[in-house]
Amino acid sequence: MTAGETPAFDLAIVGGGPVGLFLALAAEQAGLRPVVLEARSAADGLRDDRSLALSWSSCLRLGRAGAAAPAGSEAGEIRTIHVSQAGHPGRTQFSCDEAGIPLLGRVVGYGDLVRSLADAGEGRFPVHYEHKVLSIAQHDGGVELHTSAGTHRARTAVVADGSGALLADAGFTTTTKDYGVHALVARVRTDRGPGTVAYERFCQHGPLAVLPRGQDHAVVWTLPADRAVELTEAADGRFLSQLQDAFGWRAGRFVAVRDRGTYPLVLRRTMPLARGRIVVIGNAAQTLHPVAGQGLNLGIRDARSVLAALQAAGSGDPFARYGARRERDRTAVVGFTDLLAEVFSVNMPGLPGLRALGLEALDLLPGARRHFARALAIDATR
Ligand SMILES: Cc1cc2nc3c(=O)[nH]c(=O)nc-3n(C[C@H](O)[C@H](O)[C@H](O)COP(=O)(O)OP(=O)(O)OC[C@H]3O[C@@H](n4cnc5c(N)ncnc54)[C@H](O)[C@@H]3O)c2cc1C
Repeated sequence: MTAGETPAFDLAIVGGGPVGLFLALAAEQAGLRPVVLEARSAADGLRDDRSLALSWSSCLRLGRAGAAAPAGSEAGEIRTIHVSQAGHPGRTQFSCDEAGIPLLGRVVGYGDLVRSLADAGEGRFPVHYEHKVLSIAQHDGGVELHTSAGTHRARTAVVADGSGALLADAGFTTTTKDYGVHALVARVRTDRGPGTVAYERFCQHGPLAVLPRGQDHAVVWTLPADRAVELTEAADGRFLSQLQDAFGWRAGRFVAVRDRGTYPLVLRRTMPLARGRIVVIGNAAQTLHPVAGQGLNLGIRDARSVLAALQAAGSGDPFARYGARRERDRTAVVGFTDLLAEVFSVNMPGLPGLRALGLEALDLLPGARRHFARALAIDATR
């Protein structure tokens, strides 16, 4: 880009996943000109049916950007979170009434959420599908993005590609910790219907979440890779009886299963969060263990912070202090999810008893429960 040439866009967003599309909506609403470059076709992004728990704050933020969190027959409401551990006493639960909010969160399908965000952006900003970004170069006054279908220029590039794979050549580094387990996801039906309770049960290899979604429950089950593959391919009856053994009967009898799949679980962090006019957000900045369902919620806060930095910058460098500001929130959430993933999957002698004590103590302290519920559902202070 030559000096004096004005880029057509303020923001080029790499990745039309939920975080990239949310940023585009919020940026357009703030009077900026975003463009989204997405590698997949419009239909491909909608096929992912993983279930996501959105916190109450994230639901409000989506609404303010003009895109409601999907509701109706394919979504669920979380009014209570029930936490227990398999084979040992100790349980606690958090409720929206205790937290003083209408809901703790909603469960939505990834594809439904992407559709809702893309529909809300229709006519407000361009989304170029099948434009895989291959490299990003910085020049005086902006960035140049080379894609599989041409070159785009903007003042700032925001990488929301889910992995940060693009960034190695732009001076960013990534650290990865492999948890050595997979998340087996599925939709299951019980003889009682889904209700509004989200269950988090800590089992031998890590957490097992059973979330209300439509007429079903969404299951996210942490298992060693070979066992996850075996149960993904098992006959329905065998899968359901193994799930019942691990989870127990608190949601009723599991009677049907569909849409099984697996995801390897890693903790990945990209450093720094910004370099010049390139900034990284969402799963590209950090990929978390899904325990406590915080990845997308954190990504939505990343997007808000990018926007705040751009709005506050004037003619200065918008991202000079961005990394330091975001690091506090990211470190807290990464630390919390990593601790939960590790503490509840280690089975040293005496540890289950300590965990049981912790859960019982929390259950006896309404103030602590209220604080916990609000921390999970409302993150307005971060
Ligand atoms: C099993 C499981 C359960 C989860 N549950 C929860 C939950 O309950 N709550 C929660 O908050 N989070 C949850 N998460 C995390 C959540 O899915 C992610 O945090 C979220 O999808 C991140 O969104 P993103 O837009 O940053 O990235 P992605 O969703 O990965 O989207 C990235 C997009 O970028 C595109 N792309 C990639 N490379 C390029 C390129 N070079 N050029 C252009 N486009 C590109 C991709 O095609 C994709 O569309 C869960 C994750 C898993 C695996």
